[in-house]
Amino acid sequence: MNILILGSGGREHTFAWKIAQSSLCEKLFVAPGNSGTASIATNVNIGVNDFESIKNLVLENNINMVVVGPEDPLVNGVHDFFLNDDTIKHVSVIGPQKAAAELEGSKEFAKEFLYRHNIPTAAYESFTKETVENGYAFLETLNAPYVLKADGLAAGKGVVILNDLDEAKVELKNMLVDAKFGKASTKVVIEEFLDGIELSCFVLTDGKNYKILPTAKDYKRIGEGDTGLNTGGMGAVSPVPFATDAFLNKIEERIVKPTIEGFKKDKLPYIGFVFIGLIKVGDDPKVIEYNVRMGDPETEVVLPRLKNDFVEILQAMSNGNLDKINIEIDERAATTIMLVSGGYPEAYEKGKVITGVDTIENSIPFHAGAQLQDDGKIVTTGGRVMAITSYGDTYQEAIKKSYQNIGKLHFDKMNYRKDIGFDL
Ligand code: ATP
Repeated sequence: MNILILGSGGREHTFAWKIAQSSLCEKLFVAPGNSGTASIATNVNIGVNDFESIKNLVLENNINMVVVGPEDPLVNGVHDFFLNDDTIKHVSVIGPQKAAAELEGSKEFAKEFLYRHNIPTAAYESFTKETVENGYAFLETLNAPYVLKADGLAAGKGVVILNDLDEAKVELKNMLVDAKFGKASTKVVIEEFLDGIELSCFVLTDGKNYKILPTAKDYKRIGEGDTGLNTGGMGAVSPVPFATDAFLNKIEERIVKPTIEGFKKDKLPYIGFVFIGLIKVGDDPKVIEYNVRMGDPETEVVLPRLKNDFVEILQAMSNGNLDKINIEIDERAATTIMLVSGGYPEAYEKGKVITGVDTIENSIPFHAGAQLQDDGKIVTTGGRVMAITSYGDTYQEAIKKSYQNIGKLHFDKMNYRKDIGFDL
């Protein structure tokens, strides 16, 4: 079959790497892709939200399946776009329909879903410009720190956690009254602060059956010791050492099962990946957020541990027979370290030549914000540039291999965290 992947990050390079290993895949396309996908697939310079151009690409190349990487096209209804067009409705789309993608698109929608299905999560209330005074009063009933979340998608920046009550009130006003995050903060969810350690759980579903992929932990902050600004993710480790079998069992029983049951009860059409952001409070898992796609950089450690033919799994998801699949996981640990442009997550320069990629041994470089030039050079085009993934009998061994290979790589102002896995 012919397959199209939408996206251009490390996650999409990892999808392409795994799909290209399947004998079921004849032609592989990535839109728009990066320098990593260019070496194993055909990159097509089309944006992920340009549905008409995606349709033309699909028709011209007899594409049978579209795997959606990022959340934006899902929240914008790419799956529904295919279903509503007779010429492309036969194409399998991996990613939930718009109604279900609201689990990521609206934090209030997600909290209502969690409450409706009795899934453990932080207590909350939501507010609008009209009810801002009630928001101040609600903040007064809580203890610090105060967690304020813009309801809509805000490029990972819409969550603000503050220690001071007065600052929290000002922030609430900034979001609701002064539209700090534009339309995304028309509503704000205020949440109870949960104190614990975070991890991510990834679930595949065909809408009625589910399979759980290995857990992963990512490192969001730019600075060592988890300090400084939030980023898209600076590294990841899988499995998560503190996620014992007993804890994983709690996640499955209390969170995964009711989530999938919830999709059925609420008639939310869901074929795709469910990324459940969790926090371990004491010995109990609670849901921080749902994402309706795989995580990045977690994909760069989760998929390399999956032994199955990925295309077989994707087909089973789209055909509704995921129950027939037996997931096989590589026992080894996998870790990834993200190389970023100096200055990221604030302003940074692009167009820096990356050298040393062909000298990497015993690690896999998953390209992210990097493109191949006509002269054969790979140059930086984004903040997160490349994720260096390694396997090891222990995660420490895997991390060591990644750092060894990073020593051979160079681009001007290259930055990365030197402490991935430090807290495990
Ligand atoms: P992402 O960038 O991961 O998509 P997001 O912007 O969708 O994040 P959340 O994941 O809901 O927002 O929150 C971002 C981060 O804020 C979490 O990873 C967590 O560290 C912190 N956080 C969110 N809610 C809480 C809470 N109730 N208690 C403690 N920390 C929280």
